Amino acid sequence: MDKIEHIGIAVRDLNASNRLFEKLLGVPHYKIEEVASEGVRTSFFRSGPNKIELLEALDKDSAIAKFLEKRGEGVHHIALAVDDITAEVKRLKSEGFVVLNEEPKRGADNKWVVFLHPRSANGVLVELCQEIRD
Ligand code: ZN
Repeated sequence: MDKIEHIGIAVRDLNASNRLFEKLLGVPHYKIEEVASEGVRTSFFRSGPNKIELLEALDKDSAIAKFLEKRGEGVHHIALAVDDITAEVKRLKSEGFVVLNEEPKRGADNKWVVFLHPRSANGVLVELCQEIRD
């Protein structure tokens, strides 16, 4: 893996949290994007080399809605940038990690994404992401 690509934070009210993080980081969000397939609306902040993604549920059956219900607001996942997502999935599977979606799917901010089950990573939901180059 190359670096931490971003940290994902589950929030109940994206507009309110955008204002909060704008104050916290001193920069406005640079994009809002809906990922309908995941039932989620996201916004992104850049602070120096770091990136934060806020995630709000679009519907009550989405993974974010369930997370909020169970754990409340807070850190939801850590995303790791990888160069070859297919090779990384293969490597991590052979190391015993549980992969949630083997076929990379289109995530927010122009990325292919694969998630690893938190139970195989000390309770942390890990997102592998690779820039879509097409
Ligand atoms: Zn993410």
